[in-house]
Amino acid sequence: PKYVYDFTEGNRDMKDLLGGKGANLAEMTNLGLPVPPGFTITTEACRVYLATGAPPPELAAEVDEHLARLEQVMGRKLGDPDDPLLVSVRSGAKFSMPGMMDTVLNIGLNDASVNGLAKQGGNERFAWDSYRRLLSMFGKTVLGVDGELFEHALDEAKKAKGTTSDLDLEADDFQRLVEVYKDIIRTHAGREFPQDPREQLNLAIRAVFESWNGERARLYRRQERIPHDLGTAVNVVAMVFGNMGLDSGTGVAFTRDPGSGDQGIYGDYLQNAQGEDVVAGIRNTVPLTELEKLNKAAYDQLLDIMRTLERHYKDLCDIEFTIERGKLWMLQTRVGKRTAAAAFRIATQLVDEGLIDMDEALQRVTGAQLAQLMFPRFDEKAAKKQIAKGVNASPGAAVGKAVFDSKTAAEYAARGERVILVRRETNPDDLPGMIAAQGILTARGGKTSHAAVVARGMGKTCVSGAEQIDIDLANRRFTGPNGEVVQEGDVISIDGTSGAVYLGEVPVVPSPVVEYFEGKLAPDADPLVSAVHRIITHADARRRLGVEANADTPEDAQRARRFGAEGIGLCRTEHMFLGERRKVVERLILAKDEAEQQAALAELLPLQRDDFVGIFEAMDGLPVTVRLIDPPLHEFLPDLTDLSVRIAVAEAKGEPVDPHDRELLDAVRRLHEQNPMLGLRGVRLGLVIPGLFALQVRAIAEAAAILIKRGKNPRPEIMVPLVGAIQELEIVREEAEGILRTVSKETGVDVHALIGTMIEVPRAALTAAQIAEAAEFFSFGTNDLTQMTWGFSRDDVEGAFFGRYMDLGIFGVSPFETLDRDGVGRLIRMAVTEGRATRPDLRIGICGEHGGDPESVHFCHEVGLDYVSCSPFRVPVARLEAGRAAV
Ligand code: PEP
Ligand code: MG
Repeated sequence: PKYVYDFTEGNRDMKDLLGGKGANLAEMTNLGLPVPPGFTITTEACRVYLATGAPPPELAAEVDEHLARLEQVMGRKLGDPDDPLLVSVRSGAKFSMPGMMDTVLNIGLNDASVNGLAKQGGNERFAWDSYRRLLSMFGKTVLGVDGELFEHALDEAKKAKGTTSDLDLEADDFQRLVEVYKDIIRTHAGREFPQDPREQLNLAIRAVFESWNGERARLYRRQERIPHDLGTAVNVVAMVFGNMGLDSGTGVAFTRDPGSGDQGIYGDYLQNAQGEDVVAGIRNTVPLTELEKLNKAAYDQLLDIMRTLERHYKDLCDIEFTIERGKLWMLQTRVGKRTAAAAFRIATQLVDEGLIDMDEALQRVTGAQLAQLMFPRFDEKAAKKQIAKGVNASPGAAVGKAVFDSKTAAEYAARGERVILVRRETNPDDLPGMIAAQGILTARGGKTSHAAVVARGMGKTCVSGAEQIDIDLANRRFTGPNGEVVQEGDVISIDGTSGAVYLGEVPVVPSPVVEYFEGKLAPDADPLVSAVHRIITHADARRRLGVEANADTPEDAQRARRFGAEGIGLCRTEHMFLGERRKVVERLILAKDEAEQQAALAELLPLQRDDFVGIFEAMDGLPVTVRLIDPPLHEFLPDLTDLSVRIAVAEAKGEPVDPHDRELLDAVRRLHEQNPMLGLRGVRLGLVIPGLFALQVRAIAEAAAILIKRGKNPRPEIMVPLVGAIQELEIVREEAEGILRTVSKETGVDVHALIGTMIEVPRAALTAAQIAEAAEFFSFGTNDLTQMTWGFSRDDVEGAFFGRYMDLGIFGVSPFETLDRDGVGRLIRMAVTEGRATRPDLRIGICGEHGGDPESVHFCHEVGLDYVSCSPFRVPVARLEAGRAAV
């Protein structure tokens, strides 16, 4: 295969091979934009390197060939002592991983060529500054030297000069630093800095390959669910310099506001600096609009290019550029990351501008983004004490205890505490703390700083560049502009939508998007609500899947309906036996004879009937799938240990023991199970405790009859849990049909209910063809189906060892969260096909947690389910994703 592509040979559709950066550099080159020449080493070469520990043998010759061409175009040779060509070596994977992998600039400088660069650039300071940058970057990323050592030496040099800005350092300061840096490398890497430019290039390429498997890159991929086996491409690009003086500089920009979606000019510019300075937030940048005053021609050209890119990519783009002595160069572009709100707004703006259609707009947003927009935000009316204001870098409302480093953040979070990570600026090493935190607050850096970019990607609240706060890391506190002191552990609130930082906990209010779904805000109430309305309406028009809700109270049912649920796919009846009613259930379990049992059931009947009247009424005209009681009986009795202790204590004190307690203890012991989830629950309970299911079916039927008499249209369905054999279902079905007939006769109202089953035991999926003979519908209970397919206790494993499993790459996300397509999914496919073969009009849905998970909704669409059912709050997410699956 061909391992190296010139920028003139690629295009934006080649991201798999050239990575995002390489593919887009090629695209820009071919659009005729001013891109410095260069070439891309493919991800395939990286994969060979990662698999074998060495680059493919053909690579060296291909690099030589492309380097020679580059030298020819540039009219200079790499590292030439008189007039050196310098190159940057930049990572670039298929999916953007900001700051997670390595980049080395200024390759080609050495003790000789630094003089050539000074001569050609006419600037000693610039040449030595460039050389010391190469040494520190190369030392850190290629030779594995601790970057702090270089930082420290730089700080010392500034201190010696009595300054805090690197702009005050002069040529001889940098020249001295070069010697110090070389010493650091010698001492800590155990080798000399390589003077041979070609060796520098080879080592840098390898380092980029290896950075794919660096710890922070792995962590980021797990978080973002990027596969671990893609590898990164490597871009070798002729250097252009933003640090050649005040007529040079570097910047980043967005073609629209990535925070809100507003149109306008958004970016940061830094004079006399190299690209890494901006992203790292080392010096404070100026708004891009200032560039107009500094260099009008370059500014106009930049805006023109930004318009070209937006029209070409038909989307928001972000760019990195450098100005070298007044001339503009484009270093990168890509379709830019954006907040959830911006995603919805930009998608509809692009429709209005005629660049995309509504189907495409639907693809431009995700259920996860919609879910984010449904989070609450700070109450505007609440009293709050603002102590600082920063940049609104990533929206949301976050409250937590201030912590000052990544490790502490992770420790607090592990104890279940909410934290805000407060840093001067973040770097990729802070990633674990950022993941653990509710939000991130930094003192430096703008909307494009590391903290901002990563937080937006993770959907986390971030306020950056709150310059008024003074962080005292040693004493673990920060001080606000008016002297307020926040110690580690003190609660603060940060508003990523406005940039405000508040002392203490600020109360939150519902999001406007939720208010819209609730019917409290009109679809045109504000631009965001209107964008959401347009897109979800289109999703509804497109989707084939029905969306129902898991709800078991009239209130939940009503909310679900407002959120667009087309029925209840799972009404769990367990909670109807708790609270006050627990005593009656206790009597039922402890009954000594049928008479006692009947008495208890008779007491439960009217209560249960009222429950159903409320729910059927709330869902009038829509199906309500009532699941008969499921959990093990002992869940309704006191805890074995508690009860034993109570009795033992009474005995030890010589107090009389309540005879009821003794009776209870006997029952608890009798019913105790080692594996309750695999024990007496679900249909098994119904078959063992006479009268229990009958009570529920009667309550359903009587509730329906009452409503029909009131002129309503109840549509109950009766769902039997945990069925593994058709015989179980047949027995329950016969009894239920009898009761429906009886109630119809008693009430004079024709009461109908579909009778169906959950498919949540693997055997049910395996024998779906038989079971469908007795079932009018299937509903996949994927919580139990996952538990029993993997043999993972759903109540224990996630906290116990899933973290380790994910580290080991056994799965990237818990199978209880996103459906395991290969295993559980195979059972589902099989059951769908075989169930429908028996009964072509079999209604099939899913009611496990997966019903509201975006990725799993796509699976349900693919395998041809009729509907998904999920918690009311996720109903809009499921509607959106069902629409996306269909276009
Ligand atoms: C299931 O098992 O997926 C299900 C919906 O039932 P429950 O979660 O109540 O066991
Ligand atoms: Mg279940």
